[in-house]
Amino acid sequence: MHYIAEILCVGTEILLGNIVNTNAKDLSEKLSVLGIDTYYHTVVGDNPERLKGAVAVAKSRANIIITTGGLGPTFDDLTKQTLAEAFGKKLVFLEDEAEKLRSYFKGNISSKMTQNNYRQAEFPEGATIFPNSNGTAPGCAFEADGVHVIMLPGPPWECNLMFDQCVVPYLKQFSDDEIVSHNIHIFGMGESAVEDKLNSQMTSMTNPTLAPYAKLAEVMLRVTAKAKTIEAAEEMMKPVIKMVYDTLGSVVYGVDVGTLENTVKQLLTEKGLTFASAESCTGGMVASRITDLPGASQCFKGGVVAYTNDAKSELLGVPAELIAEKGAVSREVAKALAEQVRLKLHADLGVGITGIAGPDSDESGTAVGTVFVAISDGKRTYCRDLQLGKRRDRIRTSAAHHAFDMLRRYLTDLEIEKI
Ligand code: ATP
Repeated sequence: MHYIAEILCVGTEILLGNIVNTNAKDLSEKLSVLGIDTYYHTVVGDNPERLKGAVAVAKSRANIIITTGGLGPTFDDLTKQTLAEAFGKKLVFLEDEAEKLRSYFKGNISSKMTQNNYRQAEFPEGATIFPNSNGTAPGCAFEADGVHVIMLPGPPWECNLMFDQCVVPYLKQFSDDEIVSHNIHIFGMGESAVEDKLNSQMTSMTNPTLAPYAKLAEVMLRVTAKAKTIEAAEEMMKPVIKMVYDTLGSVVYGVDVGTLENTVKQLLTEKGLTFASAESCTGGMVASRITDLPGASQCFKGGVVAYTNDAKSELLGVPAELIAEKGAVSREVAKALAEQVRLKLHADLGVGITGIAGPDSDESGTAVGTVFVAISDGKRTYCRDLQLGKRRDRIRTSAAHHAFDMLRRYLTDLEIEKI
């Protein structure tokens, strides 16, 4: 059975631009991991007529409809009533669910149960109920007219958890197959270059499939296989992952590793090494990203944001004459930042970053996007001269990525200065 999903998010707040529709993004991502294609995202306000219209359209082009939002107790929470009506089902009151609500409110000193809350114990007849471990509004699912209708709460934390805990097993019972996927992480090659190298394989493969996902400053490929067992699916993916490594080489930094900084943290921890960072244009992004990871203190000594020339000299001892002679954005200053922070913070490795993030160039006329990233181990200092485009956010994010990539390459004996 080829499943096609439509995600229908209910909420006037989304249409007014008050909130971002992250549920659609998150659910699409989760569905694609399950091998289910999402063809449409729809957003409707809290209006039963327009919701009914959107359901009629979704019914005509999808066999899984997932709604989010509008499951609460207030008068504008109309999702269950409207969906039940659209599929010719009655709403029935479930005493079990009412009892769960009563006990939830008994243990909750900050809010009292009202008569309205009983609406949350009403469900379309025959529906499977999904408990809400993070809130009061349960979700539910039913099948009618050849369509699986799944209703989830609006708050993203509740919606995502309910999908993982309840919807995944619910959907799995309709398929004998196991769907398994792996993410292959790539830094240092753009999406179009990756597609160019793998185009024939990507377009000809049906099971497993290989699909690219562009992320800010890097690329991810997802390989997905469907088979009778997880083991069989894993076996089918092995040659595909090997083919990607063979074709793309050292720009592949790992499979299912999450992020470059996570890879670097693991490598440093395995080797018992530490690093420290001195950042100018990235303003502490390297330090922030590594310290987002639990246990970072094992491999990260600390970071200095040395933004002005004075800060570079006074905090880190980069000679003022060097800055005056070569310019603050120069290979020499990046190297000095890496060397000095390594010494000052007693780390095994130092990272130095200096560049022009824009939108304006500096007084010496250095072009926006010029960035120098250096790493030093006390014996040798390596530096990349980069041109990272014109967008400030992209320049800064890419510069931090380059720092982690240089560390990764240093730690795995790959060429460091060139990709
Ligand atoms: P509740 O029981 O909290 O009322 P609900 O299922 O009725 O849950 P809504 O009232 O529609 O959900 O939304 C609750 C909150 O969840 C919204 O105020 C908003 O912050 C968030 N939310 C709703 N829909 C989305 C969405 N599509 N993407 C991201 N956040 C959302």
